[in-house]
Amino acid sequence: MSNALIAKEVAKRRTFAIISHPDAGKTTITEKVLLHGHQIQKAGTVKGKKSGQHAKSDWMEMEQERGISVTTSVMQFPYGEALVNLLDTPGHEDFSEDTYRTLTAVDSCLMVIDGAKGVEDRTIKLMEVTRLRDTPILTFMNKLDRDIRDPLELLDEVEQVLNILCAPITWPIGSGKNFKGVYHLLRDEVILYKTGQGHRIQEVDIIKGLDNPELDQRIGVYADDLREQIELVNGASNSFDKELFLAGELTPVFFGTALGNFGVDHMLDGLVDWAPVPQPRETDDGQAVAADNAAFSGFVFKIQANMDPKHRDRVAFLRIVSGQYEKGMKMHQVRVGKDVRISDALTFLAGDRSHVEQAYPGDIIGLHNHGTIQIGDTFTGGEKFKFSGIPNFAPELFRRIRLKDPLKQKQLLKGLVQLSEEGAVQVFRPLINNDLIVGAVGVLQFDVVVHRLKSEYNVEAIYENINVATARWVSSDSERKLDEFRRKAEANLALDGGDNLTYIAPSMVNLSLAQERYPEISFSHTREH
Ligand code: GDP
Repeated sequence: MSNALIAKEVAKRRTFAIISHPDAGKTTITEKVLLHGHQIQKAGTVKGKKSGQHAKSDWMEMEQERGISVTTSVMQFPYGEALVNLLDTPGHEDFSEDTYRTLTAVDSCLMVIDGAKGVEDRTIKLMEVTRLRDTPILTFMNKLDRDIRDPLELLDEVEQVLNILCAPITWPIGSGKNFKGVYHLLRDEVILYKTGQGHRIQEVDIIKGLDNPELDQRIGVYADDLREQIELVNGASNSFDKELFLAGELTPVFFGTALGNFGVDHMLDGLVDWAPVPQPRETDDGQAVAADNAAFSGFVFKIQANMDPKHRDRVAFLRIVSGQYEKGMKMHQVRVGKDVRISDALTFLAGDRSHVEQAYPGDIIGLHNHGTIQIGDTFTGGEKFKFSGIPNFAPELFRRIRLKDPLKQKQLLKGLVQLSEEGAVQVFRPLINNDLIVGAVGVLQFDVVVHRLKSEYNVEAIYENINVATARWVSSDSERKLDEFRRKAEANLALDGGDNLTYIAPSMVNLSLAQERYPEISFSHTREH
């Protein structure tokens, strides 16, 4: 296929993910986004809510829930001239390293904030991850049908806490019972809100121009309030600047209610107009592969196991970087140095998994495999380079894992190493003893691992608490300094599943003391595959 044809497909695509704190409205906004993409006639069918006792639920249940959620783990839908890929980021109890890694596979992110609550801690963490690649961020202030905090104060909080400039694109008129709609600063239009239209695309009721007397007739005293506020907003806040947005330094902000399906379309318009098309991706030799490069390439950012309980099936999610996927094509798996023929990749049209004939940069395809694919794997049309920037993230939760039957130590280690290669969990072996420490980002990962160890490796394991607060991968330009560090800090050092040296800190204070004491050692909270 020629570069020009690929470039045409690339130009249409926007690949993004949603970051938010649990309950801010990610699921609801996903439903409405799909509604606007005409993927579901009636919103409200994206996925069932999980039960609160998830951590206690058994594997079958988890599997079933995953079966449901996988169909929504990548969603592709048309919007206007564009073709949008929305990558789901596991939240709530199923929060895991995959959530972080998915953010390294998109070209932009939508940040959803509960207008009554403002910036919450999960959002802060997820924003840190987007900063690794300076990913452009759009913001949706949600739940305007409830009483929210002062909008200017909300913007100020985003700017201070998340260190990103805010440029309001729409501005709310009242909130809660008095939510009247929004003023679109760029279009100079008031879009009036109607209740009871949450399940369909709203009939738009637009008043052109802030000075339009019709506005006073329609919203009464709110009209003059709005005029005053807009004057203030124009003076006090930033105007939209696409360059700053693309650099990840400024976020366009939209106000609305996902539940009432109001304002989501303004955000989608912004996404399609401003968010970047599939971006070039760096390789380990410092080159960048452009999306319209004719040769196929892509990388694996997530592996999902046991999606279909009838098969021991794992699906590797591959983000296409360049070229074109065609059914039956041969791909080169760079890490193992082998060619594989892919005849049955999955594509993810909203709501169901189907088999694709073609896919393009920015698209995600699912490759079936039985453990031969690892997170971070690069696939090409034959070339030998490897994409960078698909990291492991330092776990935040730790447990010691122990066997019920001590004779199976070898299987346990093998299972843990394989599961860590797949990204299900991370494993650490201290230098000074035979403990095995499992590290995770989300608590559900622990359950998944114990269950999979039993069903796939036939070992029964249990967890014990352990006093570890955080882990950092260590390295140094000086071999001598690293050796010295290895000797002196041995009690706090471990090897991870890939034999990389890791500092295991009992507390954050220990970590900062070590960083002070050993300035030549770098303590990294991500590690490249
Ligand atoms: P998630 O945890 O971020 O996926 O959040 P959900 O989409 O599940 O929303 C959490 C709760 O907030 C649910 O009860 C939603 O119905 C509710 N919710 C979401 N958006 C809105 C909104 O715009 N207004 C109101 N009042 N409730 C909302």
